Amino acid sequence: MTETTSLPTRTVFFGPPGAGKGTQANLIAAHHDLPVMDMGATIRKAIKQGGGAGDKAKSYVERGALVPPEIVIEMAMERLAQPEFQGSWILDGFPRSIAQAEALEAYLAQPEHAGRFVVVNFHADPEALVSRLSGRLICPQCATVYNTQSNPPAQADVCSECGHHGLTRRKDDEPEVIRTRLQVYSEETQPLIDFYSQRGVLVTVDAMQEIGTVTAAVETALGWTNGVGTAHG
Ligand code: ADP
Ligand code: ADP
Ligand code: ZN
Repeated sequence: MTETTSLPTRTVFFGPPGAGKGTQANLIAAHHDLPVMDMGATIRKAIKQGGGAGDKAKSYVERGALVPPEIVIEMAMERLAQPEFQGSWILDGFPRSIAQAEALEAYLAQPEHAGRFVVVNFHADPEALVSRLSGRLICPQCATVYNTQSNPPAQADVCSECGHHGLTRRKDDEPEVIRTRLQVYSEETQPLIDFYSQRGVLVTVDAMQEIGTVTAAVETALGWTNGVGTAHG
């Protein structure tokens, strides 16, 4: 990367559950050698480990509600303080509320965090989200995301990336919890579209296209079409 000669780019992947944020974050991070903070995965890891924050977060995740801001903001700031997040990065699933966006804005306002800030808004048809989430499969070993319909692994139930046998479904990808998550998105998260439009940092991509087409659209939106590792300034 070129952080020594240019300022870093901080990117937020924003959109409803199932829009393809995680899929694109993994692909684009690999192309450009960037760290990703996947907020949902960070929270699930804390729950698995147990202890204060994880125990408090558990019931919210299970029912599809947002984990309270003080817990999520602290987790996010802890991750961003790590050495790998001192240059360019991608956030997947944070911020998801005005309170979270204000916390991130305060972080980015510090002189040592100067750089370019872009929010990529994944625009998707609500109907498609339910079927995407219902068919989502995840490799428990390497976190690659598949879909029974649109993006199956080459060999059934085997991860094409790492060879792990046994792809899993998330408990919150069942219909009732999906409905809650989509409602929470429209009530608490969608207002951020205006928040970021007003600040002139929002770019919208059509997330209903094929996965590879969406990747190209995101890279174009970010100005990263000239190849790997060249344009993060
Ligand atoms: P998010 O992180 O926004 O919740 P994911 O990246 O986990 O979304 O994708 C949700 C599901 O939709 C996964 O099963 C994934 O394989 C599938 N998917 C992602 N992008 C597309 C796409 N462009 N077209 C069809 N299915 C997709
Ligand atoms: P998806 O990829 O389908 O959008 P995530 O893995 O990002 O789902 O999130 C799963 C769950 O984790 C959410 O339903 C919510 O309970 C919790 N969560 C994730 N990100 C946040 C956040 N920024 N604020 C509050 N809760 C969050
Ligand atoms: Zn795998």
